Amino acid sequence: MHEISICEGVLQILEEKAVSHGFRKVKTVWLEIGRLSGVEPDAMRFSFEVVCRGTLADRARLEIIEVTGEAWCMTCEKTVNIDERYDACPECGGYPLRVTGGAEMRVKELEVE
Ligand SMILES: [Zn+2]
Repeated sequence: MHEISICEGVLQILEEKAVSHGFRKVKTVWLEIGRLSGVEPDAMRFSFEVVCRGTLADRARLEIIEVTGEAWCMTCEKTVNIDERYDACPECGGYPLRVTGGAEMRVKELEVE
């Protein structure tokens, strides 16, 4: 499951922040996940719990914020919302669209102690 390696990446970010911000425990993590990132929120929650066991984020709560997929349609000359990376433009039905948002994942906020 590739969510495991993503969670390891998130944990690494948390550990780096712990050093630079001087905290020792993470209580809640708000994670922004783009609809087009291919990351499954449920798999993410499960992996996060497993990966964080025995670390500074042991038993931390994971709050997932889903971000809408956005793409630029060259035909319509505007940004449209899409749910899947290879969706056609919802307005003109055309391809291809250039993805401009919702493909990434980032740690938005942390509650620490
Ligand atoms: Zn279009």
